[in-house]
Amino acid sequence: MQTPIPFYLDEILENVRYLDGGSVADYIPPLAAANPSYLGAALCTTTGHLYSAGDDSEEFTMQSISKPFVYALALQELGFEEVVAVVGMEPSGEAFNELSLNRDDHRPVNPMINAGAMTVTQLINGVDSGVDERVEHIRQYMSRLAGRDLTIDEETCDSELLFAERNLSLAHMLRNYEIIQDDAHDAVVTYTRQCSIQVNVKDLAVISATLANGGTQPITGEKILDPDVCRLTQAVMSSAGMYDGAGRWMAEVGIPAKSGVSGGLLGTLPGQLGIATFSPRLNSEGNSVRGVEAFKRLSQDMGLHLMSTDQRYGIHPIRDVEIINDAWVVRLQGVMNFSAAESILYRLEDYDITADEVLLDFSQVTTVNRIGRVMLKEGLRRMREAGFKIGVIDPDERIKDRTMRDGTQVVRRDDNEDYMINGEELL
Ligand code: GLU
Repeated sequence: MQTPIPFYLDEILENVRYLDGGSVADYIPPLAAANPSYLGAALCTTTGHLYSAGDDSEEFTMQSISKPFVYALALQELGFEEVVAVVGMEPSGEAFNELSLNRDDHRPVNPMINAGAMTVTQLINGVDSGVDERVEHIRQYMSRLAGRDLTIDEETCDSELLFAERNLSLAHMLRNYEIIQDDAHDAVVTYTRQCSIQVNVKDLAVISATLANGGTQPITGEKILDPDVCRLTQAVMSSAGMYDGAGRWMAEVGIPAKSGVSGGLLGTLPGQLGIATFSPRLNSEGNSVRGVEAFKRLSQDMGLHLMSTDQRYGIHPIRDVEIINDAWVVRLQGVMNFSAAESILYRLEDYDITADEVLLDFSQVTTVNRIGRVMLKEGLRRMREAGFKIGVIDPDERIKDRTMRDGTQVVRRDDNEDYMINGEELL
């Protein structure tokens, strides 16, 4: 059986491909030259399973998506008090590159606006760090988050620096109020190089899954950030990650997220997964048009909204697997939501099943939400396509609707005489 998740991601992409509104960022030539039709998506679970679809290997610059991760690095290296002394945690209500600071203490309001991001970048590698050392420190850290060596797009960086008047004014203002100590030009060069780190959509999914996982990179297993740092970072993303669309985003999608002008968009579901999309056309708020729509659909379909009340976390969804005569009985337990179903399908894909029949046993399952049911039924349907007999053991009728997507029914094997297999009781 092949797990349906990449197919599902593909379907999401096909459903948003028709959206051709918005336009690519055009304030510098390399971004203006981006291919507007690129479209990719990736999802990485905190257990380290990575799925992707579409243009998943195309590289683009991180831009503003780098901001929350450098903020996390500053929190990790200096601790909360030192960081909050120079940058706040409130939503701004102003454009990301607005020339404004808190009236009373002159701190930038949050690390997602440019003034805040530059301030945070200046904290990295010690205040006395040279530009090259600081940039290299950030590049290496991002590479550890992604689990591969990331490079800087020099052309985009050089071009950005030719049009950096606004960021330079921000840096001068920050220096005027002694929020940063470094030369203003050096601060802008460092920040711009950080923004020019190149990633693909799979890197973004893995990087955000690391935040969702409390700082342990889920594929390499490397412990990079503390859980507290990840919590703070995701909290700031949830209130200020989506430029001026942050409030509506939280209401409609409900996932801490960050977007950037090159068309990347990533979201984290704490404890569960990281998701990312790439599509360069932006709406008037500066967020990827197709990315925003893909996230809305993912959130609704997969029941991912953080404020949704049907999320439950906990035990491993497969209790055990027993072979009874010619049947593989996969005993499930707990709550069947997206994460549980993903984990079950992932395991089923890998099992070398030697029996004729595969049965999912729901006797120990407490609840099944809609996406859990849809995914498990689709897994069973694919099992049947691969040549197995399929069925469920479901004494408490956790699966209310047993119709699969092709209109056929999942057989309930504990119904009447089918309760036994070759004389042996199944429960
Ligand atoms: N390098 C860009 C700037 O600071 C990043 C913009 C963004 O992605 O929002 O102007």
